[in-house]
Amino acid sequence: MTQPLHDLTVAELATRLKARDVSAEEVARHFLARSQTAADLGAYLAMDEEATLAQARAADALLAAGNAPALAGVPIAHKDIFVTRDFATTAGSKMLADYRSPFDATVVRRLGVGAPGQTGGAGMVTLGKLNCDEFAMGSANENSAYGVVKNPWDTARVPGGSSGGSAAAVAARLTPAATGTDTGGSIRQPASFCGITGIKPTYGRASRYGMVAFASSLDQAGPMARTAEDCALLLSAMCGPDLDRDSTSLDVPAEDFTRGLSGDLTGLRIGLPTEFFGDGLDADVRAAIDAALAELRQLGATVVDISLPRTRLAIPVYYVLAAAEASSNLSRFDGVKFGFRAPDYTDLEDMYKKTRSQGFGDEVQRRIMTGTYVLSHGYYDAYYLQAQKVRRLIAQDFQQAFTQCDVIAGPVAPSVAWGLGAHGDDPLADYLADIYTLPASLAGLPGMSVPAGFGAAGMPVGLQLIGNYLQEGRLLNVAHRLQQATDWHQRKPNGI
Ligand code: GLN
Repeated sequence: MTQPLHDLTVAELATRLKARDVSAEEVARHFLARSQTAADLGAYLAMDEEATLAQARAADALLAAGNAPALAGVPIAHKDIFVTRDFATTAGSKMLADYRSPFDATVVRRLGVGAPGQTGGAGMVTLGKLNCDEFAMGSANENSAYGVVKNPWDTARVPGGSSGGSAAAVAARLTPAATGTDTGGSIRQPASFCGITGIKPTYGRASRYGMVAFASSLDQAGPMARTAEDCALLLSAMCGPDLDRDSTSLDVPAEDFTRGLSGDLTGLRIGLPTEFFGDGLDADVRAAIDAALAELRQLGATVVDISLPRTRLAIPVYYVLAAAEASSNLSRFDGVKFGFRAPDYTDLEDMYKKTRSQGFGDEVQRRIMTGTYVLSHGYYDAYYLQAQKVRRLIAQDFQQAFTQCDVIAGPVAPSVAWGLGAHGDDPLADYLADIYTLPASLAGLPGMSVPAGFGAAGMPVGLQLIGNYLQEGRLLNVAHRLQQATDWHQRKPNGI
């Protein structure tokens, strides 16, 4: 029992807390102190020791009472895109500097201890808020108004994005678990780059209430942790209908995703899309994916070749639709109702202009302009409507593929994490690297990243698993069995 607290998984911490071997307050203090020593990673944006300890004491009270919820006292940190009452929320933007929400996002509430007089959730204690790309737009966490996040495996490289702070914090053991959001890959890709496990559920499984909106028809919350078992525990708490608050919330009851974790993989058909293994894929990533697939075959799975013929179109389709939705969603940031307002202006129109050009970063402004353009009269049919039609075809390609296989597997990204600043002023380089994650996002399908070994320079590689609608349990089952047979998910960055 000499393992330090930060090396324990969510499941292990929950067991020790229930056994009263350690208190929630001790665990929280341990992680808070540890995070102080890793400030140079840039993972955390907001921390508030008093708020965290108050939550920890509330969890200890639940534990002492003997009928504590499943994850009582286990720490978690939230991507700074979820609004929280106890901590400021910035969405990585100057536009929301010092913004404080009067309520918790549904996902935060479902995971948390609950305020006095409010029904609590799974009993987890919030350590703080995690850095992310501004309004979750990015693939490297280099678009945050609050500085870059470094990859704990090599601090000269990016952690991925947009949930880069979440992935880096989990990999560096600054928290046992984090929330992330995935619009076009932002849970899967940083999980892959940082060697952790992350799952984006079926669109609508987790409520979007209190998630700062980027592209509403794509945004989805999910857990990031070290193991599939931990992701299953967290996802079980996060999901469930929230029909009064999110009209796209699915009316599907909450599920216990830990139940099917150990299911036998014999006879499971894994589909490999030809388009995910073409020219753009780096050889080191391919070798790691092949090794992971060989393990899954050992476990009884069979592999079949499938085709997702419109994979290449996912990039233009996504960057038209996501920008269009973003331009609409972000119109609320006008300097009037909340957030940043330019200090000097002459009249109302000047106030709007200055507020929005000073408050938003370059990438966000680029998306607002693209989105406004594709929605404008005369271009709407040619771009927006056309993209909607192709989106439907991409979703149909998946349904065709699922007649031949039970899950789809492939790489998460074409390469391992690239160097900080390597994509410089070339946003297209970031967009193209999203090729393997965008199709499942456009189709609204669940997808996950599971550690699958290491590529160039010893950097982690993630295996992507994509399931049909509501098949999260199956993905977690495959990931868990793979993790029982391998130790890639247990390796740590040097010095951690
Ligand atoms: N990289 C993609 C983008 O920049 C996806 C981001 C996300 O999933 N939030 O839009």
